[in-house]
Amino acid sequence: MTQFDTIAVVDWSGGNDTGPKPRKDAIWLGVVRNGEAEEPLYLRNRAVAEAALVALIEQEKAAGRRLLVGFDFPFAYPRGFAKALTGQADPLALWAWLEARITDEKTTNNRFDLAAEINLSLGGKGPFWGNALGRDIAGLGRTKQDYSAAPFSEKRRVESLAKGSFTCWQLAGAGAVGSQVLMGLPVLSRLRRRFATDLAVWPFEISKGSDAAVVLAEIWPSLIAGAVRQAQTDGGIRDAYQVRLLAVALSQVAPDILQQMIAAETDEEGWILGQGFETDLEAAALRLQPPPLRNDCFALPAGVDWTPVETALSLLRDRMQVVKATVECQTAQAQGRILANPVSALRSNPPEANTAVDGYGFAYAGGAAGTQVLPLVAGRSAAGVPFAAKVPAGHAVRVLTGAALPDGVDTVVLDEDVTASATQIAFRGPLKRGANTRQAGEDIVKGSEALPAGRLLTPADLALLSAVGCAQVPVRARLRVAVLSTGDELREVGQDAGSGQIFDANRPMLLSLATRWGFEPVDLGRVGDDRNALRAVFDEGAARADVILTSGGASAGDEDHVSALLRATGALQMWRIALKPGRPLALAMWQGVPVFGLPGNPVAALVCALVFARPAMAALSGQGWIDPQGYALPAGFEKQKKPGRHEYLRARVRDGRVEAFASEGSGRISGLSWAEGLVELDSAARHIRPGDLVRYLPFGSFGM
Ligand code: AMP
Ligand code: MG
Repeated sequence: MTQFDTIAVVDWSGGNDTGPKPRKDAIWLGVVRNGEAEEPLYLRNRAVAEAALVALIEQEKAAGRRLLVGFDFPFAYPRGFAKALTGQADPLALWAWLEARITDEKTTNNRFDLAAEINLSLGGKGPFWGNALGRDIAGLGRTKQDYSAAPFSEKRRVESLAKGSFTCWQLAGAGAVGSQVLMGLPVLSRLRRRFATDLAVWPFEISKGSDAAVVLAEIWPSLIAGAVRQAQTDGGIRDAYQVRLLAVALSQVAPDILQQMIAAETDEEGWILGQGFETDLEAAALRLQPPPLRNDCFALPAGVDWTPVETALSLLRDRMQVVKATVECQTAQAQGRILANPVSALRSNPPEANTAVDGYGFAYAGGAAGTQVLPLVAGRSAAGVPFAAKVPAGHAVRVLTGAALPDGVDTVVLDEDVTASATQIAFRGPLKRGANTRQAGEDIVKGSEALPAGRLLTPADLALLSAVGCAQVPVRARLRVAVLSTGDELREVGQDAGSGQIFDANRPMLLSLATRWGFEPVDLGRVGDDRNALRAVFDEGAARADVILTSGGASAGDEDHVSALLRATGALQMWRIALKPGRPLALAMWQGVPVFGLPGNPVAALVCALVFARPAMAALSGQGWIDPQGYALPAGFEKQKKPGRHEYLRARVRDGRVEAFASEGSGRISGLSWAEGLVELDSAARHIRPGDLVRYLPFGSFGM
């Protein structure tokens, strides 16, 4: 059983459509993807919910993310019921049976009539009860049934353990779950048919080794009722809190606990996933998040007019800190993730001394020069198939690359240096002690640090982690980076663009940069130069992301609405940075989320994103601050640079010399594309002549 990438928790409802405005007792969907909780989704009726679930499953499947969907109603009835209706003691046969009989429309459905029919077919005395309709229905009583003589018990075994749970026979009254089951199982049955072999129902179809892309399971939010009470500090809708928190708990619980939860012994009555693991789930739900940034984190010292680049960077460096919580991740999936804690080797590499070559092993005995002849013992040591016995002193044994050194062997002579018969070998000395062998732990010793916190995991790191036995690692939940373009002149590429209009070039660039840097891009689209529209989009960005990147409108002009709005409501700090291209960089906090207001010019937008936004976001994401690696290389161009501000030139290296793009115009996007890096010139005046050393920063140094 591998882990799940996405956890969805559904709070179901047996009732009718609850209208457009989010309400309690409706259907709520909480999703946590890669450790990141989304805003809970309000689903006003079952048809809307079913469509949302289909869309979610399709989406996760397409992205290759394994999905667990929990529903808060019983997946089965007490023992004997499925067989009585379908002839099979199989809850899934009952799902199909109900699917064929339940009709479900927005304002009416036949659940009470079907329950009455079932009661009648079983003799008329239950098991269902609780007719909530105005009319009487033959076969369905209004009050509780006496189960003492009935063929089915009142509760399933798991319900007698789960505190406060209701019987699934009760169709009406506060907290009754019976209607949810009748109206829920047909939906699950359709999901099962639709996703066929990609979907498995826990526990009925899950043997421990199953790895279906989608797993449906019965859950129960009351298992974490204490955590919900603690976490919910405002008067919001509890159902929404519950689904979100239970999804968080299931995604945060240690993998071995989840494994144990899934491995619960069950039968035709099914089980509640997590029953018996309440403490683990509550602890996982309440795991601490790092504190948010302070609202004044972008404040500049008083009296600053033009901020030098170095000062701007060191101010940012001081004030940005990690904002993401820790989640567990399978090592195989961890490429591009950021380690939250240092990881220690669980095993040494190599775990034991072995031979680096094919040859013959023996105990070092002084390493005399001249011809040595050693008798061979029978057998050999191969990789994975060690030689079990001790090799006597003065004897040699056949060894193959990667094989553990047998007891009595510390030195190996290479095949090519040996003449061998069936019973002895001869070679010419001297040989050093330990020749051609690898010592246990010579690469890394068990218990020592394999990788530090903040490491952005590379393919090579996955090899290292695997070699030292780390199957899962603590990583930071992904930083969500929202991107917004502003300006009345902007059109979406692919649309018509008339006079005065240009295509939005910054958004695709910034979104794909965020992806390259291992962050989760959130596309906020384009907004015209309109204060109210901008406000709404900032609100959306703050709800959906950890940082917002805007481009355009960041100067102090008439149409610079981003800076105007941020000044009015977002604790704006306008950093006038002595930088070409770039200059105005609007930094602000919007509802606790940092906003980087980048310049509109694509060249300036990219330079500012690389130089300022990237290290700041690296710090927010848990990587820590990063400075790009630069190289001193001879210039292949000439330039007179004025004093007063830092400059970045679009550049590339050919034949060991740095070429600069012919034009420095900040609207020249082709130059960005032409370039493979930047030349960085500090604020001093300088006359650069061909052959002079300049500082070249390849785009790769910026993670691009
Ligand atoms: P602004 O910072 O809004 O004054 O914009 C500066 C320049 O950048 C203007 O020429 C804008 O038309 C241009 N610009 C702004 N946003 C974008 C964008 N998303 N894509 C391409 N050009 C842009
Ligand atoms: Mg503009």
